[in-house]
Amino acid sequence: MRQAYGEMGWEVPELLDAMDASDDVYFDRVSQIRLPHWSADRVALVGDAAACPSLLAGEGTGLGMLKAYILAGELHRADGDCARALAAYESRLQTFISAKQKGALWFRGFFAPKTALGLTVRNLAVRVFALPLLAKPFWERSLHDDFTLPEYPMS
Ligand SMILES: Cc1cc2nc3c(=O)[nH]c(=O)nc-3n(C[C@H](O)[C@H](O)[C@H](O)COP(=O)(O)OP(=O)(O)OC[C@H]3O[C@@H](n4cnc5c(N)ncnc54)[C@H](O)[C@@H]3O)c2cc1C
Repeated sequence: MRQAYGEMGWEVPELLDAMDASDDVYFDRVSQIRLPHWSADRVALVGDAAACPSLLAGEGTGLGMLKAYILAGELHRADGDCARALAAYESRLQTFISAKQKGALWFRGFFAPKTALGLTVRNLAVRVFALPLLAKPFWERSLHDDFTLPEYPMS
């Protein structure tokens, strides 16, 4: 591989050598799962299976736990009415999760800039937003979730 791509410079030749020497390379494409519904009859999907935001969101694990929490809470609240519980599970989360997925797509260019200029701008932005005065308000705003976690009294 070094012969084909080694001219890319930086750490690339060493990385390519390491890939050639490894028999356990992780390689995948970045995908999202978007379904019109997360359940059918008495079967429901949670986690990535229901709505994978991809690694671009950086919070698929937390969102998976959120889905599990809401599903369990709604099943408990519906007191045996499975159809009502599953409908409530979806309606509480669909808009929120869908916005997360759209937000993740916005980060595509940030994760993997397509041009040298894009790479320079991205690296500069990372440095700027690491400055203490800017970092706190920026990250507080971008990581803030406008979602109120419902309480499910366990009686
Ligand atoms: C490279 C990468 C980086 C990421 N970084 C972050 C991050 O920084 N923060 C974050 O919050 N999230 C991150 N995520 C996303 C996060 O990993 C997922 O959102 C999360 O793991 C989803 O959990 P899950 O339980 O729904 O699915 P999974 O973790 O995928 O679990 C599904 C399980 O089901 C098993 N399985 C599949 N088919 C079958 C079958 N037929 N029978 C039995 N078992 C089966 C699989 O082997 C797997 O163990 C990242 C994802 C990737 C790929």
